[in-house]
Formats: sequence, C-alpha cells, structure tokens
Amino acid sequence: MRGERAVVATIAGAIVVPAGEKRRTVYDAGQGRDLPGKLVRGEGDPATHDAAVDEAYDGAGKTYDFYQKVYARNSIDDRGLRLDSTVHYGVGFDNAQWNGRQMIYGDGDGKLFQRFTKCLEIIGHELTHGVTQYTAALAYSDQPGALNEHFSDVFGILVKQYSLKQTAGKSDWLIGAGLFTKRVHGAAVRSMKAPGTAYDDPLLGKDPQPAHMRSYKRTRSDNGGVHINNGIPNHAFYLAATRLGGKAWEVAGRIWYAALTAKLSSRAQFGDCADATFEAAGNLFGIGSAPQHAVADAWKAVGVPVSATVLAGEPRLTLREVALQPASATQLPAEPRARRSRRRRIS
Ligand SMILES: [Zn+2]
Repeated sequence: MRGERAVVATIAGAIVVPAGEKRRTVYDAGQGRDLPGKLVRGEGDPATHDAAVDEAYDGAGKTYDFYQKVYARNSIDDRGLRLDSTVHYGVGFDNAQWNGRQMIYGDGDGKLFQRFTKCLEIIGHELTHGVTQYTAALAYSDQPGALNEHFSDVFGILVKQYSLKQTAGKSDWLIGAGLFTKRVHGAAVRSMKAPGTAYDDPLLGKDPQPAHMRSYKRTRSDNGGVHINNGIPNHAFYLAATRLGGKAWEVAGRIWYAALTAKLSSRAQFGDCADATFEAAGNLFGIGSAPQHAVADAWKAVGVPVSATVLAGEPRLTLREVALQPASATQLPAEPRARRSRRRRIS
C-alpha cells in the first residue's frame, strides 16, 4: 500500500492539468477482478450504451463539476487528478469502493442490490473518499473513520442536490436511494434525515444507524462501526442544512468543506468536527452569525456539543496546528500519516 501511495503521489505530481479540465476514464473488468480492466471510455468519447460505463462516466463528471464550480477544487487532489473508474467488477459484487487510486463498482447480485453506478450520491461518496485522502486523511477506524464516511455521505448527497438544483427542504437525504431491488424492504442504505430507518428487511435486518451520541455503537466490526456511527454526524449536518434552508452546498456544505480541507486532522473525533465546523462557520459567515448558531444547535441536538472554550470564541489551536508543534510542547505524539484501508464500503 505504501508503494501504491508513492505511485499516486508521483502521478499526481507529474500530470498537472489546467484548472477546470476534467479527465475521466472508465474501464470494464468484465466480471473479473483485475484492475483497471479494459479501457472502454475516455474523456470526450461518445456514450457506450453500457449503462454502468455511462453512469460511472457521467457521475464522475457531475462530481468533478460540483467540486470545481462550488468549491473551486480541481479534481480530488486539487491538481487535476484523472478520475478512473472500473465497472463490472467481480461477479455479483455488492459494493462500490475507492481503493486509494480509483473507483470500483460492482453490478450487485441482482437479488438484494442493483448496480452501484445507479446512484449519483454513491459516486460522489466514493470520489469524496479521494478528497479526504488528500486533505484531512481521516484514519479509517472508530470515530475518525466514521467522520471519513460522514464527509463522503455529506458531499455525496450534495453532488446529487447540486445536480438536481434541489434545496435542502426538497432532498430525500438518502444515501443509496433506489439501490436495493424490489425484494428488499428499504428505501436506501442510509438516511441522513432519520438514521436507523433506511431499511428494515428480513434478510438484511434493520438499519443499525444511531442519530444521537447516546446510541453510539461500540463494535469491532466494520472498522469500529464506521458505516454505523456516521449516522450521528450525518444527522447533525442534515439538521444544520435544513434549518438554514436554501441550497445546502452554499452554506452548510461550504462550512463542512472548510473543516475537511483546512481544519481536521487524521485522528479527529466527533467533538473535533463539531468544533471545526463551528469555527469554520464563524470564519466564513461571521461570529454569532445564523450559520454558526445553526451548526452549534445541530451538534448539540445529536449529543456532540461544541466545546465550551470554542463556543466562547477563545482562540484554539486546530488539530492540524497542534500536530505541527513539537511533541513536548503539546504533550501529543507526532502525527503519523494516516493509514488507509484499502476497502471503503458503501454498505
Ligand atoms: Zn464510504
């Protein structure tokens, strides 16, 4: 994995394209597991009439456009990194993932899951794992891992809302809407509006997501419940965005983007995210502004209040600044680069 990461850094450093130029390639694994597979569509090529190929291509384009137009970010690394996707991965593969270099999409087993490229918020979710990798580099376990999943859900749903020109009040706030087959009793994989209610099915069981810190799930599975406990910060984002109203990517999204790209570090806990978004809201929209109040109230409502010193507006070192101080001065160990899991499950 270290070797792979070195290659990623080299490629990103060598190929810098002008801002606003998107480059996409889609490969077909032909139900095999060799990556990347056969090149089937490059940037500017016409549609292939293979739904998975064209959805992966279009979804990567919509995600690129969202980050570029809304946050002036040039691809996931902000340096024009090419967006590679492999579709038809494996046989009946029930997942989508970002493997540190590219997106991988399964066709689903057809019994429970349909093909994973069907949902734009899933494509936005996977690509955002790449953005996180190049910014806060949140470790993929426990609370930092749940925050990693949280930011992917936030920007996944915002890509969809932006694409539909949909206000916070009109969104379904569902991740993986329409992904299940008709046999499954469920609307989606996760709900940001009502965590724990996305599905309730004899085969899949009930959606295990909590919406409040009192129900935080301590578990060793799922890397410490990264796809479970992200319901808590997800719901905080939903509360802030719907209270503010309008287009969620313009205010709440901008606040969360600043926290992810400029404030949080790899070991951030939920409370750090509450503090970071509160501070970012103050920086962007003013101390005591409506967005800042909405952010504070949202985190309080899910049982993760902004810390008293930050609420009082006292200067506080961000995690990233703390990590740059000598260990003796801060009594914190030096921050290692985040270890990243190879697998990023949507489920
Ligand atoms: Zn994920």
